[in-house]
Amino acid sequence: MIDWPSHIRATGLRSTRQRVATLESLAGLPHATADELLNQVRQSLPAITIQSIYTVVQSLVDVGLVRKLEFGPTAARFEIQHFDNHHHVHCRVCGRIEDVPCQHGSAPCMSPVETHGMVIDTADVVYHGTCTSCLDALDHPTVGDTKVSA
Ligand SMILES: [Zn+2]
Ligand SMILES: [Zn+2]
Ligand SMILES: [Zn+2]
Repeated sequence: MIDWPSHIRATGLRSTRQRVATLESLAGLPHATADELLNQVRQSLPAITIQSIYTVVQSLVDVGLVRKLEFGPTAARFEIQHFDNHHHVHCRVCGRIEDVPCQHGSAPCMSPVETHGMVIDTADVVYHGTCTSCLDALDHPTVGDTKVSA
């Protein structure tokens, strides 16, 4: 059991029930969207709103306890920040996301050809593709999806 209140206080933030419940929920629900997080946090705080979730999770992102992940046009996802610089594989069909270790280990693990004068500290790497169960489903469409020609 992680002592979230002391982790929160160590960042200078106040430890609130909403912040603790959000971190506890995220620990069991990696790569959750705000909606998924809301459903989970409501188990312990039934009155919490989606607006509160956004506010709470952003405060945790700001202090580095939570990592925010963006996968193109889909909703942002959140996970506990482990500072391991791991990357992600993403199935475009079902939206499944899994962790993959960084081959280099520490950030930034690659550098651009041109930095335009910026000091680069992170490279977000997402491998997009199609997972094997989605590929199987595409190869073997279910009867309902099969077009029957007369
Ligand atoms: Zn898939
Ligand atoms: Zn991850
Ligand atoms: Zn890397």
